Amino acid sequence: MAQVGVQVIAVEPGSLAEEAGIRPGDTLLKIHGEAVLDQLNYQYLITREDATELVLQRLDGSTFTACVENGGEGIGVDLAQDEVKVCKQNCVFCFVHQMPKGFRKSLYLKDEDIRLSFLYGHFTTLSSSDDAELDRIVRERLSPIHVSVHATDPVARVRVVGNPREGNILRKLDHLLGGDIDVHTQAVVAPGLNDGAIWQQTLDDLWARRKEGRGSVLSLSCVPVGLTAHREHLPDVNDVDPAFARDWVARWTPEVRRYAKANDGEPWLLLADEWFTRAGLEVPGRAFYSKSWAQLENGVGLVRRFLEHSRRFIKSPKAKGFAGRRVLLLTGASFAPTLNRVAAELNRAVGSHLRVVAAKNFSFGETVTVAGLLCGEDLKYAAHADRDAKGGRADWVDAVVVPSASLRTITGPTDQYTLRGAVVREEGTFLDDLTLPQLAADLGVPTVPSGAQLSHLLDHLEAADRGAFRGGALGSTFHTAGLNQPQGAYNP
Ligand code: SF4
Repeated sequence: MAQVGVQVIAVEPGSLAEEAGIRPGDTLLKIHGEAVLDQLNYQYLITREDATELVLQRLDGSTFTACVENGGEGIGVDLAQDEVKVCKQNCVFCFVHQMPKGFRKSLYLKDEDIRLSFLYGHFTTLSSSDDAELDRIVRERLSPIHVSVHATDPVARVRVVGNPREGNILRKLDHLLGGDIDVHTQAVVAPGLNDGAIWQQTLDDLWARRKEGRGSVLSLSCVPVGLTAHREHLPDVNDVDPAFARDWVARWTPEVRRYAKANDGEPWLLLADEWFTRAGLEVPGRAFYSKSWAQLENGVGLVRRFLEHSRRFIKSPKAKGFAGRRVLLLTGASFAPTLNRVAAELNRAVGSHLRVVAAKNFSFGETVTVAGLLCGEDLKYAAHADRDAKGGRADWVDAVVVPSASLRTITGPTDQYTLRGAVVREEGTFLDDLTLPQLAADLGVPTVPSGAQLSHLLDHLEAADRGAFRGGALGSTFHTAGLNQPQGAYNP
């Protein structure tokens, strides 16, 4: 990593750092003689020994050494945010390359950062990681890490990642596995690019690297490629149409069960929900997914988990809070059938009047059907169209619900990372910069995020009854689960 030294931005009163004379503005250069690279590296170095020697630099350029008896604990400093490492690769299906023009700059930044892979489960192709960085992962035990393999066949991989030097992903994986690092893997599958024999080889190579204990390939997910209408000047890539998705489901669903059996019952090969939604099929039952919902953030099991939560919730006394409510639920076309079914069950059970409308994605193109990529203007259009269809009355519903996944959250759950100094707090903002309060003002009815489950949604509706979700702040009743993470690349 290029960054050397991390600035102290706050010192806790009465802390070891204060006793040692460390002040806000100092830069932490070394711990135990090793250069401090970033916050994660600081955590590793500071907890290594009971006594710690630190070298710092004052704002005037002078340096000093501090020694603390910290018992392997933190010393009471807050450090400046680390800058996210930006990807220089050229994957044929990189989502950032397919973004429409005119969105805010931060959305075009591609992250490819092993720290985010470890901390938040972002996938990295490891293309930007040299051997020194792989050694760092091993030394600091950044396990498990999440790797986009795409294909183990060198020719196919070069074609996918667009980098002639990155064909041999197995060498990098073996470096990590040999250092006892566990790895979750994924392949984004595009017809004719890395399916067929190439996919089979990927599967075989990664399965051969699964073993008991540490240093194992813990899972392999396959995700259908996501293409937008904005692919001018980009290589031709075939989309996954419903027929391809149906064939894939028919071919690989039994294999998921077979691999799980050989893996002590724990699913290892994972199929993303999108295979089923694109095929127009029901997602499988709970046993199809890993016990710990591995790769949930990667779209594996989200629909099943939502259905499970919903069915439990509908039977609970809290569900009665929906009684009588006339609510319009906006979502993407792929999730609409599931949500529709749940809304109908809830309506029957408690006498609510929830309706689901699939909003078209005019911003990215209508082939993009996931809720997380709907823009504020798409949702606004869908709500207006619904109001017009219902006679145009201003109070045609009590509330409009937008998918939480279409809203941005903070840049990293701990504010630990920044994307090249781009906006840090983006709570309540859609991809196209329209904000939730602006949409609510335009629609003239309370407009709330869905949350990740029905109980969150009810909390939001009840908060709206009390006047929350007016003005700029979303308030403490706002459930952040299910909000989109600020990844530059949505499908790395
Ligand atoms: S998909 Fe990921 S690794 Fe590939 S170019 Fe985009 S950001 Fe980089």
